[in-house]
This record gives sequence, structure tokens and C-alpha cells, in this order.
Amino acid sequence: MKPEDVLAPPCGCPECHQAGVQTLGQRRDPHSGRLLHGSALRRWHEEKAKFFAKARRAALGPKGPRGGGFTRLTVERVPGEDDDE
Ligand SMILES: [Zn+2]
Repeated sequence: MKPEDVLAPPCGCPECHQAGVQTLGQRRDPHSGRLLHGSALRRWHEEKAKFFAKARRAALGPKGPRGGGFTRLTVERVPGEDDDE
């Protein structure tokens, strides 16, 4: 399946304007093959955003890429440095 088979430029029909998706790309319903409009298209984009948020959490943990705090880049104590006591 080519990307242009599922992705189409934004649609400006009244239904899409009413749902606030007139600037988002249109998607094709995988079952019927018809382009999604209005609230159906909005649901598609909402589900996509949810999926990406879930995937990001699964990959990075609940706090994101800095969840583990800063990575210490310096060595606490250089071997041999305090050995003159
Ligand atoms: Zn439309």
C-alpha cells in the first residue's frame, strides 16, 4: 500500500469545517476505502495522537527522556587523586 492510498490533502467541506479538521490530512477508511470526513476524521486523528503518546510512554517511561534525571558525565573521584593522605 502506497502512502497516497491512505493519505489525502486536507478537505474543506462543511462537515470537516464543523469538526475542525479542515487543516488536517484526510485518511482513508481501511475497511470501506472511502475518505474520512468530519467527526470520523477527527476521531482518526485523536486515536493516532493517543497511539503515539502511548508508544512514547512505552519507549521512554512515564516521565519521558529525562525521567531518570541527568546522566552523570563526570567521574566522582579520579583514582589516585586523594591518595596522598
Ligand atoms: Zn471533508
